[in-house]
Amino acid sequence: MEYDVIVIGAGAAGLMAAGTAAMNGHSVLLMEKMEKAGRKIRITGKGRCNLTNARPAEEFLEKVRTNVDFFTVAFAEFNNRATVRFFERQGVKLETERGERVFPKSGKAWDIANALVDFCEDKGVKIMYKTEVTAIETLGGKVTGVRYRNARGFERREEAQSVIVCTGGVSYPSTGSTGDGYEFAASVGHNIEPVRPSLTPLVTSHPQKEYMNGVLLKNVGAKLYVDNELVQEEFGELGFSERGIEGAVALRMSRDAVDAIIDEKRVKIVVDLKPALDEETLLARIDREIAEMQPNEFFSELLRKLVPKQLVVPLAKEVDFHSKTYVSKLSEAEKMRLVKILKGMVFPISDYAPFQYAIVTAGGVDCSEVNKYTMESTLVRGLYFAGEVLDIDANTGGYNMQVAFSTGHLAGQLKK
Ligand SMILES: Cc1cc2nc3c(=O)[nH]c(=O)nc-3n(C[C@H](O)[C@H](O)[C@H](O)COP(=O)(O)OP(=O)(O)OC[C@H]3O[C@@H](n4cnc5c(N)ncnc54)[C@H](O)[C@@H]3O)c2cc1C
Repeated sequence: MEYDVIVIGAGAAGLMAAGTAAMNGHSVLLMEKMEKAGRKIRITGKGRCNLTNARPAEEFLEKVRTNVDFFTVAFAEFNNRATVRFFERQGVKLETERGERVFPKSGKAWDIANALVDFCEDKGVKIMYKTEVTAIETLGGKVTGVRYRNARGFERREEAQSVIVCTGGVSYPSTGSTGDGYEFAASVGHNIEPVRPSLTPLVTSHPQKEYMNGVLLKNVGAKLYVDNELVQEEFGELGFSERGIEGAVALRMSRDAVDAIIDEKRVKIVVDLKPALDEETLLARIDREIAEMQPNEFFSELLRKLVPKQLVVPLAKEVDFHSKTYVSKLSEAEKMRLVKILKGMVFPISDYAPFQYAIVTAGGVDCSEVNKYTMESTLVRGLYFAGEVLDIDANTGGYNMQVAFSTGHLAGQLKK
Protein backbone atom coordinates (compact mmCIF):
# COMPACT_ATOMS: atom_id res chain seq x y z
CA MET A 1 0.00 0.00 0.00
CA GLU A 2 1.71 3.15 -1.23
CA TYR A 3 -0.48 5.70 0.61
CA ASP A 4 -1.98 5.75 4.11
CA VAL A 5 -4.64 8.26 3.18
CA ILE A 6 -6.54 9.12 0.01
CA VAL A 7 -8.31 12.46 -0.04
CA ILE A 8 -11.01 12.90 -2.69
CA GLY A 9 -11.41 16.48 -3.96
CA ALA A 10 -8.91 19.35 -3.93
CA GLY A 11 -11.27 22.09 -2.74
CA ALA A 12 -10.98 24.08 0.48
CA ALA A 13 -11.73 21.06 2.70
CA GLY A 14 -9.68 18.52 0.73
CA LEU A 15 -6.55 20.67 0.48
CA MET A 16 -6.71 21.46 4.20
CA ALA A 17 -7.33 17.79 5.10
CA ALA A 18 -4.58 16.46 2.82
CA GLY A 19 -1.90 18.93 3.97
CA THR A 20 -2.82 18.40 7.63
CA ALA A 21 -2.74 14.60 7.32
CA ALA A 22 0.68 14.81 5.64
CA MET A 23 1.89 17.16 8.39
CA ASN A 24 0.79 14.48 10.87
CA GLY A 25 3.11 11.95 9.28
CA HIS A 26 0.83 10.20 6.78
CA SER A 27 1.64 9.53 3.17
CA VAL A 28 -1.22 11.22 1.34
CA LEU A 29 -2.65 11.01 -2.16
CA LEU A 30 -5.07 13.78 -3.18
CA MET A 31 -7.27 12.99 -6.19
CA GLU A 32 -8.97 15.84 -8.06
CA LYS A 33 -11.11 15.34 -11.10
CA MET A 34 -10.55 18.81 -12.56
CA GLU A 35 -7.33 19.96 -14.20
CA LYS A 36 -6.59 22.35 -11.33
CA ALA A 37 -7.09 22.51 -7.55
CA GLY A 38 -9.60 24.81 -5.86
CA ARG A 39 -11.66 25.82 -8.90
CA LYS A 40 -14.45 26.99 -6.58
CA ILE A 41 -12.12 28.81 -4.18
CA ARG A 42 -10.89 30.85 -7.15
CA ILE A 43 -14.37 32.29 -7.81
CA THR A 44 -15.41 32.84 -4.19
CA GLY A 45 -16.24 36.30 -2.89
CA LYS A 46 -16.53 37.64 -6.47
CA GLY A 47 -12.96 36.54 -7.11
CA ARG A 48 -11.69 37.98 -3.81
CA CYS A 49 -12.43 35.01 -1.48
CA ASN A 50 -14.04 35.88 1.80
CA LEU A 51 -12.12 33.11 3.53
CA THR A 52 -13.51 33.45 7.05
CA ASN A 53 -15.24 35.82 9.42
CA ALA A 54 -13.50 37.36 12.43
CA ARG A 55 -16.56 37.53 14.71
CA PRO A 56 -16.24 36.07 18.23
CA ALA A 57 -16.99 32.32 18.37
CA GLU A 58 -20.51 32.66 19.76
CA GLU A 59 -21.58 35.13 17.06
CA PHE A 60 -19.81 33.08 14.40
CA LEU A 61 -21.66 29.92 15.34
CA GLU A 62 -25.02 31.75 15.17
CA LYS A 63 -24.45 32.03 11.41
CA VAL A 64 -24.19 28.28 10.95
CA ARG A 65 -27.65 27.15 9.89
CA THR A 66 -27.49 23.35 10.15
CA ASN A 67 -25.87 20.98 12.64
CA VAL A 68 -24.14 23.71 14.57
CA ASP A 69 -23.57 21.41 17.59
CA PHE A 70 -21.79 18.95 15.37
CA PHE A 71 -19.66 21.71 13.81
CA THR A 72 -18.74 23.33 17.14
CA VAL A 73 -16.16 20.61 17.86
CA ALA A 74 -14.31 21.08 14.56
CA PHE A 75 -14.51 24.86 15.01
CA ALA A 76 -13.03 24.66 18.52
CA GLU A 77 -10.14 22.60 17.13
CA PHE A 78 -9.43 24.96 14.18
CA ASN A 79 -11.37 28.22 14.41
CA ASN A 80 -11.43 31.49 12.46
CA ARG A 81 -8.34 32.80 14.26
CA ALA A 82 -6.48 29.60 13.38
CA THR A 83 -7.47 30.11 9.73
CA VAL A 84 -6.09 33.64 9.76
CA ARG A 85 -2.84 32.43 11.37
CA PHE A 86 -2.60 29.56 8.88
CA PHE A 87 -2.79 31.80 5.81
CA GLU A 88 -0.51 34.43 7.30
CA ARG A 89 2.06 31.68 7.95
CA GLN A 90 1.65 30.66 4.33
CA GLY A 91 2.66 34.22 3.41
CA VAL A 92 -0.81 35.56 2.46
CA LYS A 93 -1.52 39.01 3.89
CA LEU A 94 -5.13 39.38 5.03
CA GLU A 95 -7.46 42.22 5.86
CA THR A 96 -10.78 42.43 7.66
CA GLU A 97 -13.60 44.39 6.09
CA ARG A 98 -17.11 45.52 7.01
CA GLY A 99 -19.05 42.76 8.78
CA GLU A 100 -15.76 41.21 10.02
CA ARG A 101 -15.28 39.50 6.66
CA VAL A 102 -11.69 38.44 6.05
CA PHE A 103 -10.14 38.68 2.56
CA PRO A 104 -6.63 38.40 1.14
CA LYS A 105 -5.13 41.89 0.99
CA SER A 106 -4.26 41.32 -2.67
CA GLY A 107 -7.98 41.00 -3.45
CA LYS A 108 -7.20 37.74 -5.26
CA ALA A 109 -8.92 34.48 -4.39
CA TRP A 110 -6.17 32.72 -6.33
CA ASP A 111 -3.75 33.54 -3.50
CA ILE A 112 -5.87 31.45 -1.12
CA ALA A 113 -6.12 28.50 -3.50
CA ASN A 114 -2.42 28.65 -4.32
CA ALA A 115 -1.43 28.91 -0.64
CA LEU A 116 -3.38 25.71 0.07
CA VAL A 117 -1.76 23.89 -2.86
CA ASP A 118 1.69 25.07 -1.66
CA PHE A 119 0.86 23.82 1.84
CA CYS A 120 0.05 20.36 0.44
CA GLU A 121 3.08 20.23 -1.81
CA ASP A 122 5.42 21.41 0.99
CA LYS A 123 4.14 18.63 3.23
CA GLY A 124 4.68 16.04 0.50
CA VAL A 125 1.10 15.38 -0.62
CA LYS A 126 0.96 13.72 -4.03
CA ILE A 127 -1.76 15.46 -6.09
CA MET A 128 -3.28 13.72 -9.10
CA TYR A 129 -5.36 15.98 -11.36
CA LYS A 130 -7.94 14.91 -13.95
CA THR A 131 -8.47 11.88 -11.73
CA GLU A 132 -12.09 11.09 -10.98
CA VAL A 133 -12.88 8.77 -8.12
CA THR A 134 -15.77 6.51 -9.17
CA ALA A 135 -16.29 4.38 -6.05
CA ILE A 136 -15.16 3.73 -2.50
CA GLU A 137 -14.08 0.18 -1.71
CA THR A 138 -14.77 -1.43 1.64
CA LEU A 139 -14.38 -4.83 3.22
CA GLY A 140 -15.91 -5.98 6.49
CA GLY A 141 -17.01 -2.48 7.52
CA LYS A 142 -13.60 -0.95 6.81
CA VAL A 143 -12.39 1.19 3.94
CA THR A 144 -9.80 -0.45 1.67
CA GLY A 145 -9.34 2.17 -1.06
CA VAL A 146 -10.98 3.77 -4.09
CA ARG A 147 -11.65 3.06 -7.75
CA TYR A 148 -10.91 5.92 -10.10
CA ARG A 149 -10.67 6.95 -13.75
CA ASN A 150 -7.23 8.31 -14.54
CA ALA A 151 -6.34 11.26 -16.79
CA ARG A 152 -6.25 8.91 -19.80
CA GLY A 153 -9.71 7.56 -19.03
CA PHE A 154 -8.62 4.16 -17.69
CA GLU A 155 -10.23 2.56 -14.65
CA ARG A 156 -7.78 1.92 -11.81
CA ARG A 157 -7.87 1.20 -8.09
CA GLU A 158 -5.72 2.51 -5.28
CA GLU A 159 -5.56 1.05 -1.80
CA ALA A 160 -5.38 3.02 1.44
CA GLN A 161 -6.40 2.45 5.03
CA SER A 162 -8.21 5.79 5.20
CA VAL A 163 -10.24 7.80 2.69
CA ILE A 164 -11.40 11.38 3.29
CA VAL A 165 -14.35 12.44 1.12
CA CYS A 166 -14.17 16.18 0.35
CA THR A 167 -16.18 16.33 -2.85
CA GLY A 168 -18.26 19.41 -1.93
CA GLY A 169 -21.93 19.88 -2.71
CA VAL A 170 -23.75 20.30 -6.03
CA SER A 171 -23.76 24.06 -6.42
CA TYR A 172 -21.85 25.65 -9.32
CA PRO A 173 -21.26 22.16 -10.80
CA SER A 174 -18.94 23.62 -13.45
CA THR A 175 -16.30 23.90 -10.69
CA GLY A 176 -16.30 20.11 -10.28
CA SER A 177 -18.76 19.84 -7.38
CA THR A 178 -21.30 17.45 -8.84
CA GLY A 179 -22.44 15.58 -5.74
CA ASP A 180 -20.30 12.45 -6.22
CA GLY A 181 -19.63 12.27 -2.49
CA TYR A 182 -23.32 11.73 -1.77
CA GLU A 183 -23.27 8.66 -4.00
CA PHE A 184 -20.11 7.33 -2.34
CA ALA A 185 -21.62 7.85 1.12
CA ALA A 186 -24.98 6.32 0.15
CA SER A 187 -23.24 3.32 -1.44
CA VAL A 188 -21.79 2.35 1.96
CA GLY A 189 -25.06 2.88 3.81
CA HIS A 190 -25.02 6.57 4.81
CA ASN A 191 -28.21 8.56 4.91
CA ILE A 192 -28.17 11.71 2.78
CA GLU A 193 -30.29 14.60 4.00
CA PRO A 194 -32.18 15.96 0.96
CA VAL A 195 -30.03 18.50 -0.88
CA ARG A 196 -31.40 21.87 -1.97
CA PRO A 197 -29.86 25.16 -3.10
CA SER A 198 -29.04 27.74 -0.44
CA LEU A 199 -27.72 31.30 -0.72
CA THR A 200 -29.47 31.32 -4.07
CA PRO A 201 -31.44 34.04 -5.92
CA LEU A 202 -35.18 34.09 -5.27
CA VAL A 203 -37.58 34.22 -8.21
CA THR A 204 -40.38 36.76 -7.87
CA SER A 205 -43.73 36.80 -9.64
CA HIS A 206 -43.98 40.59 -9.20
CA PRO A 207 -45.83 41.88 -12.30
CA GLN A 208 -43.16 44.53 -12.96
CA LYS A 209 -40.17 42.23 -12.51
CA GLU A 210 -38.97 42.55 -16.12
CA TYR A 211 -38.52 46.31 -15.64
CA MET A 212 -36.29 45.71 -12.64
CA ASN A 213 -33.40 43.70 -14.10
CA GLY A 214 -30.17 45.42 -13.22
CA VAL A 215 -31.60 47.39 -10.28
CA LEU A 216 -29.28 47.45 -7.27
CA LEU A 217 -30.74 48.77 -4.03
CA LYS A 218 -28.37 49.67 -1.23
CA ASN A 219 -29.30 50.19 2.42
CA VAL A 220 -32.83 48.83 2.17
CA GLY A 221 -34.76 46.99 4.83
CA ALA A 222 -36.40 43.68 3.95
CA LYS A 223 -38.75 41.31 5.73
CA LEU A 224 -39.30 37.69 4.81
CA TYR A 225 -42.81 36.37 5.40
CA VAL A 226 -43.82 32.72 5.24
CA ASP A 227 -47.59 32.17 5.20
CA ASN A 228 -47.90 35.81 6.30
CA GLU A 229 -45.73 35.26 9.36
CA LEU A 230 -42.59 37.38 9.74
CA VAL A 231 -39.61 35.00 9.90
CA GLN A 232 -36.57 37.14 9.10
CA GLU A 233 -35.62 40.79 8.98
CA GLU A 234 -32.53 42.05 7.16
CA PHE A 235 -30.87 45.29 6.15
CA GLY A 236 -28.45 45.86 3.29
CA GLU A 237 -28.21 45.25 -0.43
CA LEU A 238 -30.77 43.77 -2.84
CA GLY A 239 -30.22 43.27 -6.55
CA PHE A 240 -32.50 42.19 -9.39
CA SER A 241 -31.36 40.10 -12.33
CA GLU A 242 -32.82 37.61 -14.79
CA ARG A 243 -31.94 34.92 -12.21
CA GLY A 244 -34.13 36.54 -9.56
CA ILE A 245 -33.68 38.72 -6.49
CA GLU A 246 -30.13 38.50 -5.20
CA GLY A 247 -27.70 40.57 -3.13
CA ALA A 248 -26.65 39.73 0.42
CA VAL A 249 -30.12 40.35 1.89
CA ALA A 250 -31.96 38.01 -0.50
CA LEU A 251 -29.26 35.36 -0.30
CA ARG A 252 -29.43 35.30 3.50
CA MET A 253 -33.21 34.99 3.28
CA SER A 254 -33.02 32.22 0.70
CA ARG A 255 -32.17 29.54 3.25
CA ASP A 256 -35.60 29.76 4.90
CA ALA A 257 -37.39 30.82 1.72
CA VAL A 258 -36.25 27.72 -0.23
CA ASP A 259 -37.42 25.36 2.51
CA ALA A 260 -40.78 27.17 2.70
CA ILE A 261 -41.25 26.97 -1.09
CA ILE A 262 -40.43 23.24 -1.01
CA ASP A 263 -43.10 22.89 1.70
CA GLU A 264 -45.52 24.72 -0.63
CA LYS A 265 -45.91 27.66 1.71
CA ARG A 266 -46.58 31.22 0.56
CA VAL A 267 -43.42 33.32 0.60
CA LYS A 268 -42.99 37.04 0.12
CA ILE A 269 -40.33 39.66 0.70
CA VAL A 270 -41.47 43.12 1.74
CA VAL A 271 -38.89 45.78 0.93
CA ASP A 272 -38.61 49.07 2.78
CA LEU A 273 -36.97 51.43 0.27
CA LYS A 274 -36.70 54.21 2.86
CA PRO A 275 -35.80 52.49 6.13
CA ALA A 276 -34.39 55.67 7.70
CA LEU A 277 -37.71 57.54 7.44
CA ASP A 278 -41.02 56.74 9.12
CA GLU A 279 -44.23 57.20 7.12
CA GLU A 280 -44.92 60.67 8.47
CA THR A 281 -41.40 61.97 7.72
CA LEU A 282 -41.47 60.41 4.27
CA LEU A 283 -44.82 62.07 3.49
CA ALA A 284 -43.39 65.42 4.61
CA ARG A 285 -40.36 64.83 2.35
CA ILE A 286 -42.66 64.11 -0.63
CA ASP A 287 -44.65 67.29 0.07
CA ARG A 288 -41.39 69.23 0.22
CA GLU A 289 -40.18 67.80 -3.09
CA ILE A 290 -43.52 68.64 -4.76
CA ALA A 291 -43.47 72.18 -3.36
CA GLU A 292 -40.08 72.72 -4.99
CA MET A 293 -41.27 71.35 -8.37
CA GLN A 294 -43.17 73.11 -11.18
CA PRO A 295 -46.87 72.09 -11.21
CA ASN A 296 -46.44 70.73 -14.75
CA GLU A 297 -43.55 68.41 -13.87
CA PHE A 298 -44.29 64.73 -14.21
CA PHE A 299 -44.87 62.18 -11.45
CA SER A 300 -41.86 60.26 -12.83
CA GLU A 301 -39.65 63.24 -11.96
CA LEU A 302 -40.87 63.14 -8.38
CA LEU A 303 -40.08 59.41 -8.23
CA ARG A 304 -36.66 60.08 -9.71
CA LYS A 305 -35.91 62.22 -6.65
CA LEU A 306 -36.85 59.36 -4.34
CA VAL A 307 -35.59 56.12 -5.90
CA PRO A 308 -33.00 54.86 -8.44
CA LYS A 309 -33.91 55.50 -12.11
CA GLN A 310 -34.78 51.90 -12.99
CA LEU A 311 -37.37 51.78 -10.22
CA VAL A 312 -39.39 54.70 -11.58
CA VAL A 313 -41.54 52.76 -14.09
CA PRO A 314 -42.27 49.75 -11.85
CA LEU A 315 -43.04 52.01 -8.92
CA ALA A 316 -45.38 54.23 -10.98
CA LYS A 317 -47.20 51.08 -12.14
CA GLU A 318 -47.38 49.83 -8.56
CA VAL A 319 -48.86 53.15 -7.34
CA ASP A 320 -51.15 52.91 -10.38
CA PHE A 321 -50.48 56.51 -11.33
CA HIS A 322 -49.27 57.30 -14.84
CA SER A 323 -45.66 58.48 -14.81
CA LYS A 324 -46.50 61.29 -17.27
CA THR A 325 -49.16 62.83 -14.99
CA TYR A 326 -48.42 66.23 -13.45
CA VAL A 327 -47.31 66.15 -9.81
CA SER A 328 -49.89 68.85 -9.04
CA LYS A 329 -52.59 66.27 -9.78
CA LEU A 330 -51.39 63.89 -7.07
CA SER A 331 -54.11 63.57 -4.40
CA GLU A 332 -53.42 63.07 -0.67
CA ALA A 333 -54.63 59.47 -0.98
CA GLU A 334 -52.21 58.83 -3.85
CA LYS A 335 -49.32 60.37 -1.93
CA MET A 336 -50.14 58.12 1.00
CA ARG A 337 -50.29 55.13 -1.32
CA LEU A 338 -46.82 56.07 -2.60
CA VAL A 339 -45.55 56.28 1.00
CA LYS A 340 -46.99 52.83 1.80
CA ILE A 341 -45.34 51.30 -1.26
CA LEU A 342 -41.98 52.96 -0.61
CA LYS A 343 -42.13 51.60 2.94
CA GLY A 344 -43.32 48.14 1.92
CA MET A 345 -43.00 47.04 -1.70
CA VAL A 346 -44.20 43.45 -1.82
CA PHE A 347 -42.37 40.82 -3.88
CA PRO A 348 -44.19 37.48 -3.94
CA ILE A 349 -41.58 34.68 -4.21
CA SER A 350 -42.65 31.90 -6.53
CA ASP A 351 -39.45 29.89 -6.92
CA TYR A 352 -35.71 29.82 -6.30
CA ALA A 353 -32.76 29.70 -8.70
CA PRO A 354 -31.28 26.22 -9.27
CA PHE A 355 -27.99 24.77 -7.95
CA GLN A 356 -26.16 26.29 -10.88
CA TYR A 357 -26.55 29.71 -9.19
CA ALA A 358 -26.50 28.67 -5.52
CA ILE A 359 -23.50 29.60 -3.39
CA VAL A 360 -23.91 26.50 -1.23
CA THR A 361 -25.79 23.24 -0.96
CA ALA A 362 -27.98 22.65 2.07
CA GLY A 363 -28.39 19.00 3.05
CA GLY A 364 -25.82 16.25 2.52
CA VAL A 365 -24.20 13.45 4.50
CA ASP A 366 -26.18 12.99 7.71
CA CYS A 367 -24.00 14.32 10.53
CA SER A 368 -25.54 11.92 13.04
CA GLU A 369 -23.62 9.13 11.27
CA VAL A 370 -20.28 10.93 11.50
CA ASN A 371 -18.14 11.20 14.64
CA LYS A 372 -17.94 14.93 15.38
CA TYR A 373 -14.62 14.52 17.24
CA THR A 374 -12.85 12.92 14.26
CA MET A 375 -15.08 13.32 11.15
CA GLU A 376 -14.92 9.52 10.78
CA SER A 377 -17.99 7.63 9.58
CA THR A 378 -19.70 5.70 12.37
CA LEU A 379 -20.66 3.05 9.78
CA VAL A 380 -17.37 2.42 7.96
CA ARG A 381 -14.00 2.50 9.70
CA GLY A 382 -11.35 4.61 7.97
CA LEU A 383 -13.91 6.65 6.01
CA TYR A 384 -14.01 10.40 6.75
CA PHE A 385 -16.02 13.36 5.48
CA ALA A 386 -15.21 17.08 5.45
CA GLY A 387 -16.58 20.27 3.91
CA GLU A 388 -19.78 20.95 2.05
CA VAL A 389 -20.48 17.25 1.41
CA LEU A 390 -21.64 17.18 5.04
CA ASP A 391 -25.09 18.45 6.01
CA ILE A 392 -23.73 21.77 7.27
CA ASP A 393 -24.40 25.14 5.69
CA ALA A 394 -24.01 28.70 6.86
CA ASN A 395 -24.79 32.30 5.91
CA THR A 396 -22.76 34.46 3.55
CA GLY A 397 -19.82 36.24 5.15
CA GLY A 398 -16.93 33.75 5.07
CA TYR A 399 -18.65 31.12 7.22
CA ASN A 400 -18.87 28.37 4.60
CA MET A 401 -15.17 28.43 3.79
CA GLN A 402 -14.46 28.20 7.51
CA VAL A 403 -16.73 25.14 7.72
CA ALA A 404 -14.57 23.55 5.01
CA PHE A 405 -11.30 24.53 6.77
CA SER A 406 -12.38 23.43 10.26
CA THR A 407 -13.83 20.06 9.22
CA GLY A 408 -10.96 19.47 6.76
CA HIS A 409 -8.38 20.20 9.45
CA LEU A 410 -10.09 17.89 11.93
CA ALA A 411 -10.35 15.05 9.39
CA GLY A 412 -6.64 15.52 8.67
CA GLN A 413 -5.84 14.75 12.35
CA LEU A 414 -6.63 11.05 11.76
CA LYS A 415 -4.58 8.53 13.71
CA LYS A 416 -1.84 6.41 12.21
C1 LIG B 1 -19.75 31.68 -6.57
C2 LIG B 1 -19.43 31.26 -5.16
C3 LIG B 1 -18.90 32.17 -4.27
C4 LIG B 1 -18.64 31.78 -2.95
N1 LIG B 1 -18.07 32.69 -2.12
C5 LIG B 1 -17.79 32.33 -0.84
C6 LIG B 1 -17.11 33.23 0.03
O1 LIG B 1 -16.67 34.31 -0.37
N2 LIG B 1 -16.93 32.83 1.33
C7 LIG B 1 -17.35 31.60 1.79
O2 LIG B 1 -17.18 31.31 2.97
N3 LIG B 1 -17.92 30.71 0.96
C8 LIG B 1 -18.14 31.04 -0.34
N4 LIG B 1 -18.68 30.12 -1.19
C9 LIG B 1 -18.94 28.74 -0.67
C10 LIG B 1 -17.62 27.98 -0.60
O3 LIG B 1 -16.89 28.18 -1.78
C11 LIG B 1 -17.84 26.47 -0.40
O4 LIG B 1 -18.69 26.26 0.70
C12 LIG B 1 -16.51 25.74 -0.18
O5 LIG B 1 -15.65 26.00 -1.25
C13 LIG B 1 -16.75 24.24 -0.03
O6 LIG B 1 -15.49 23.60 -0.03
P1 LIG B 1 -15.37 22.04 -0.23
O7 LIG B 1 -13.93 21.75 -0.27
O8 LIG B 1 -16.22 21.33 0.71
O9 LIG B 1 -16.00 21.74 -1.67
P2 LIG B 1 -15.56 22.26 -3.11
O10 LIG B 1 -14.88 23.55 -3.05
O11 LIG B 1 -16.80 22.15 -3.93
O12 LIG B 1 -14.49 21.19 -3.60
C14 LIG B 1 -14.83 19.88 -3.98
C15 LIG B 1 -13.74 19.36 -4.91
O13 LIG B 1 -13.94 17.96 -5.11
C16 LIG B 1 -13.70 17.66 -6.46
N5 LIG B 1 -14.43 16.42 -6.77
C17 LIG B 1 -15.76 16.22 -6.75
N6 LIG B 1 -16.06 14.96 -7.08
C18 LIG B 1 -14.87 14.33 -7.30
C19 LIG B 1 -14.52 13.00 -7.68
N7 LIG B 1 -15.45 12.07 -7.91
N8 LIG B 1 -13.20 12.70 -7.83
C20 LIG B 1 -12.25 13.64 -7.63
N9 LIG B 1 -12.53 14.91 -7.30
C21 LIG B 1 -13.83 15.25 -7.11
C22 LIG B 1 -14.23 18.87 -7.20
O14 LIG B 1 -13.72 18.98 -8.50
C23 LIG B 1 -13.78 20.00 -6.27
O15 LIG B 1 -12.50 20.47 -6.60
C24 LIG B 1 -18.92 30.46 -2.51
C25 LIG B 1 -19.44 29.55 -3.42
C26 LIG B 1 -19.69 29.92 -4.74
C27 LIG B 1 -20.24 28.91 -5.69
